[in-house]
Amino acid sequence: MRTLIRHGTVVNADGPRRADVLIDGERIAAIGTSLPAEADRVIDATNRVVLPGGVDVHTHLDMPLGDIRTADDFESGTIAAACGGTTTVIDYATQTKGGSLRGALDTWMALAEGRAVVDFGFHMCISDLRPDVEAEMDAMVSEGVPSFKLFMAYPGRLMLNDGEIFRVLRRTAANGGLVCLHAENGDVIDVLVREALAAGHTAPRFHALTRPPLVEAEAVHRGIAFAELAGAPLYIVHLSSAEALGEVSAARRRGVRVLAETCPQYLLLSDEAYEGDQFDGAKFVMSPPLRSRETPDALWRGLAEGDLQVVATDHCPFLLGQKARGRDDFSRIPNGAPGIEPRLSLLYDEGVRGGRIPVERFVEITAAAPARIFGLYPQKGAIAVGSDADLVVFDPSGTTTISAATHHMRVDYNPYEGRTLGGAVETVVARGDIIVDRGRFVGAPGRGRFLKRAPFRPRSS
Ligand SMILES: [Zn+2]
Repeated sequence: MRTLIRHGTVVNADGPRRADVLIDGERIAAIGTSLPAEADRVIDATNRVVLPGGVDVHTHLDMPLGDIRTADDFESGTIAAACGGTTTVIDYATQTKGGSLRGALDTWMALAEGRAVVDFGFHMCISDLRPDVEAEMDAMVSEGVPSFKLFMAYPGRLMLNDGEIFRVLRRTAANGGLVCLHAENGDVIDVLVREALAAGHTAPRFHALTRPPLVEAEAVHRGIAFAELAGAPLYIVHLSSAEALGEVSAARRRGVRVLAETCPQYLLLSDEAYEGDQFDGAKFVMSPPLRSRETPDALWRGLAEGDLQVVATDHCPFLLGQKARGRDDFSRIPNGAPGIEPRLSLLYDEGVRGGRIPVERFVEITAAAPARIFGLYPQKGAIAVGSDADLVVFDPSGTTTISAATHHMRVDYNPYEGRTLGGAVETVVARGDIIVDRGRFVGAPGRGRFLKRAPFRPRSS
């Protein structure tokens, strides 16, 4: 099957150019201005931009949390991703206490295989660092799971202590792995939460007040120091505050190999969402929490200047009925919010149309950089001959209106409800298959494949 995408503006991380793209089977076969028009299918991309399929490297699909799970499984979650122009997801598999990394990988593989509609990979979250688990990390790297999530928060459940974090970093320095760090000081947060509840402060806004920016900045600083000591690279997940960004920027200026991701919610929303004592704020209870109104400007600057490299979603959807568990105690509200679907539209509207970043930087932070950092480039994240034919035909003059009534995520609210964005995902091609046709999902559940990723390689440039 040969598909020709004609008359569009192809955008890679190095800039836009007018070109046609010829797809042969699952791969891109040719890119140019005068390609022979012999193809089984032709997609007219006149007045459209043609983007590499989005790469979302932070999702939680079908994730257990106590006796509940996130609302999207790998089928509904990746359908939503596809409809939003994302053709690759990397989800977090989590080791259980007493369990092995292998066991966690098998569990998550069984959740994804036969359901995912786009290609997927896994990071491995380490919650119980026994000596045998440390040794198992090497096998994970060689089997295509070369990134490890560690928590500095959630003591007693997921948090590792400083020595354990240092040990994992040293291991990755040797085996080519990359640590993805959730940087918030869990012990300090626990003190603040206990004090707030004892004082009768139970509303959602106290979630944010008990996780101030400094508990994030302190943890980022500590994580960077450990990485520097261990001689290992470090990737900070869901960086949310100007204070934490300051730590990353300072370290990068010193030449430390620290990379950082932020999320659309920190670029577009603020802690005004928690105002009042109404329970509506529970929709926005996530960790780290939403920050001040000034924060988005600082984070956009970080993205424009290069101190932030990636925007991923931290898609972690819970139904309002599940959020309601914390009606009388904010600390019992399941943490997380949906976001896998509108990532590209939100960032295009606010970032590119809003004049904050050029379109090639948009491609870099949503596709090229995440693919490169997580060992998928140039198979993913680029429109190049030989790359997987993962492409988005995007209409910059179209509009996208966000609503829980029309989104594909299996969750009963949307943090961006009612927003109308400039730009629309029109057609999405994944490994040569048209899976979204003029806005309508037409793909097959289970067509997504597991991606064996390469170890982390720092760029020389
Ligand atoms: Zn997360």
